[in-house]
Amino acid sequence: MAKILVVGSINMDLVIRVPHAPEPGETVLGGDFTTYPGGKGANQAVAASRMGGDVTMVGRVGNDDFGDSLIQTLLDDRVKTTYVIKDADAATGVAMIAVSADGENMIMVASGANMQLSLEDINHARPLMREADIMLVQLESPLDVVTRAVELAKVYDVPVVFNPAPGQILSKALLSNVDYLTPNLSELKCLTEEEDVNDAILKLKAWGVRTLVITLGVNGVRVVTEEMDRHLPAFEVTAVDTTAAGDAFNGTLAVALAEEKSLLEAVWMGMAAGALAATKRGAQTSLPTREAVEQFLRSHGL
Ligand code: ADP
Repeated sequence: MAKILVVGSINMDLVIRVPHAPEPGETVLGGDFTTYPGGKGANQAVAASRMGGDVTMVGRVGNDDFGDSLIQTLLDDRVKTTYVIKDADAATGVAMIAVSADGENMIMVASGANMQLSLEDINHARPLMREADIMLVQLESPLDVVTRAVELAKVYDVPVVFNPAPGQILSKALLSNVDYLTPNLSELKCLTEEEDVNDAILKLKAWGVRTLVITLGVNGVRVVTEEMDRHLPAFEVTAVDTTAAGDAFNGTLAVALAEEKSLLEAVWMGMAAGALAATKRGAQTSLPTREAVEQFLRSHGL
């Protein structure tokens, strides 16, 4: 079983379905309200576990009901939570999500305990890191902690899949330690401060990013390495809620790479998982199983 280490966020998602996303100053009357377990870290951990990975999560929740319930949902999905710390002071992170009728989403996050993840927590997880086949990180945790985790992975020769979400400017030193960078278009622009995609790609290559996997939503994925620059079109599905499509993609990509599948094979698997996630409501509830992804790929002749 591929050993996946996920360092990242664990949130409770508070979701309201709305006819359209509100403009500043506008109140939109929504439909039903639901709570879902979420956070990019936890979502990607669950995605990887459903894909057949042996997943351990490093993160923090609050010492509260949301925290207890989130740890339980991770365990229910066979994600190991030994390294999930209950913070004594900060509340469990929450995300308020408005999902519009066309399946697009708008998100606000109060990070709470996620931002208390410390360098010490990462040092404590060193034995895990030594054993991991791949490490998966995002940017809903403190940047110095993410940076340290990536540095340590480099020391232990563990490949890193880095999903730079939410977008922010990152140092060249950090990016040069990343094996697979998986921004969407807005994160790509944010990372590089370049409007033009090709300029952004050139900049990241110059900064030492080896493999760039740009996710383009309904337009699929662009994969750029030293040897190739390929655009893979998305699978056609009826999207109802794209909330965790990127998380499904990243968790699946990590497992496929840890299983030593080829880069393009791993990307196709991730795209299948992203497409399937977009056909269902919610975050973790919409993440597909390995079986569903394999069946979907077979039905598309892959
Ligand atoms: P993010 O949520 O990080 O912005 P994307 O929306 O790009 O990520 O989704 C990740 C991947 O999931 C895409 O590259 C694509 O392959 C797949 N995907 C997402 N939305 C759809 C959709 N509506 N139809 C088909 N595939 C989709």
